[in-house]
Amino acid sequence: MKFSEMKYERPDLDKVLAQCEEYAKKMAAAQSGEELVQLYREENAMMAHYHTASCLASIHYTQDTRDEYWSGEQEWFDATGPAVSNAARNVAEAILSNPHAKALEEAFGTRILPSLRNLVLSMDDRVIELQKEENALTSAYQKLYGGAMAELDGKQLTIPQLTLYKQSTDPAMRRKAYEAEAVYFDAHRAEFDEIYDKMVKNRNEQARILGYNDYSELSYIRMNRIGYGPAEVAAFRQEVVEQVVPMIQKALALRNKRTGIENPMFWDSTISFADGNPVPHGSYDELMAGARKMYHELSPETAEFIDFMQDNEMFDVLSRPGKMSGGYEEMLPDYKTPFIFANWNGTAGDVDVLTHEAGHALEGYLAARSPKNIPEDIQCPGMESAEIHSMSMEFLTAPWHHLFFKEDTDKYELLHAEDSFIFLPYGCMVDEFQHIMYQQPDLTPDERNAVWLELEKKYRPWNKFGDLPFYGRGAGWQRQLHIFECPFYYIDYCLATAIALQFFVASLKDHKDAWQRYMKLTNLAGMATYTELAESAGMKAPFTKGSLTELSRAVADWIEQHQVS
Ligand SMILES: [Zn+2]
Repeated sequence: MKFSEMKYERPDLDKVLAQCEEYAKKMAAAQSGEELVQLYREENAMMAHYHTASCLASIHYTQDTRDEYWSGEQEWFDATGPAVSNAARNVAEAILSNPHAKALEEAFGTRILPSLRNLVLSMDDRVIELQKEENALTSAYQKLYGGAMAELDGKQLTIPQLTLYKQSTDPAMRRKAYEAEAVYFDAHRAEFDEIYDKMVKNRNEQARILGYNDYSELSYIRMNRIGYGPAEVAAFRQEVVEQVVPMIQKALALRNKRTGIENPMFWDSTISFADGNPVPHGSYDELMAGARKMYHELSPETAEFIDFMQDNEMFDVLSRPGKMSGGYEEMLPDYKTPFIFANWNGTAGDVDVLTHEAGHALEGYLAARSPKNIPEDIQCPGMESAEIHSMSMEFLTAPWHHLFFKEDTDKYELLHAEDSFIFLPYGCMVDEFQHIMYQQPDLTPDERNAVWLELEKKYRPWNKFGDLPFYGRGAGWQRQLHIFECPFYYIDYCLATAIALQFFVASLKDHKDAWQRYMKLTNLAGMATYTELAESAGMKAPFTKGSLTELSRAVADWIEQHQVS
């Protein structure tokens, strides 16, 4: 069915809540494992209707935020969300109370019971008021950041609009663009500091009420991390410091040779090539045709997938007035279809939509059609694992990138490998910073900034800020939305990158074999943990000493051998 033909009807909230309650009772009392599994399937199918409606409303709303009908529907879902989440939590509690709960693990793999347990542990009526306050703080940050206007050359620009100037080939312009941004953040310094301070204290209070020492502990439950904890994540960060950082320094020395910038300052870090970054070549129709050709040649599964997506209007990627910024991929469970939303702007990011977002979408498409008949809640794994599908697809589609980048293809491949590599220490730094913030909640704003600058030296020793305002005083972390809005989410990208880079190296040796391993991992959908998924494809989870040694050397060697003049 085409997207435009999908019917929307606002769900009956009382009915949904009553059904949840009824299922909770039945599941608590189920007399056998078989009965419990059957009830779980039915409850998932019932909730899939609600999720489909919610997703349709949100897609239509983001397609035109000025539309009164859809913004009303979106508000309705925002307002009813907490009641529905609470009902889902009660269903989880009922399942776990049943002595036959183990049957779910036999039917649906190792992730389901720990996920239900985390759902129960992460929420509670006692923290609802604090969560409302937390949401208000998030909105205050979004308003303060989203409303930011910077003055550059007599023009008033938004922060996203500054990006173009930050990438200017004129070094003086780059520095001016960073300064313009810094002026805004410095002018609102007290507000940013106050919002973050309140967030840290609010989240720590939620953690305390739920029985944890601080929010850094609770975050492992809330992020539904299964099979690893703070010790493993700390070991991973250390591995990045010891193995990846020295290799990046080598790669950056080569980059400096290429760009001719001998002593790069922080505001020069946006420059990767003397003559500018690679961009896609071709119209919308040409890029879409390229995607169809690429996925047709990659495998029978991806051929069927791309035809379905393109023939049913499941891409909305062109910018237009009223459309919300950013991009996402979402599943419409009743229709077993993913939907991809983006705002193309002529940069390499446009192609990422056709590789990265399509990687997420392929997983959802296959899971919804799996012969294992997987219930909706376990069609997708944890976020650190879901990003493996997307980030690995970026590398596995390399043999077809020439369809988009033409003569810029070699530049794109080099930049992509470098950027994935450079992201690892940055993401780890954001993660360690947050652990420290919640473990030492009474730090002053200046002390918080001092921690950030210390971490810069550890994770990104190549950054030189000079006398650049805002960044120079260690406040650059306040630009990172996730630190405020989705605490502790950032490490998920790093954990996924560690696996995606292994797919990259594997594909260089034997592309067909790498693709088959990718499909094996993808076909497990949400039924396995991060480590199990990695191992299913013959990849290594990066939690032990030495786990990144070979990989970082291989990536650094590839970068050295693929310099583009
Ligand atoms: Zn993603």
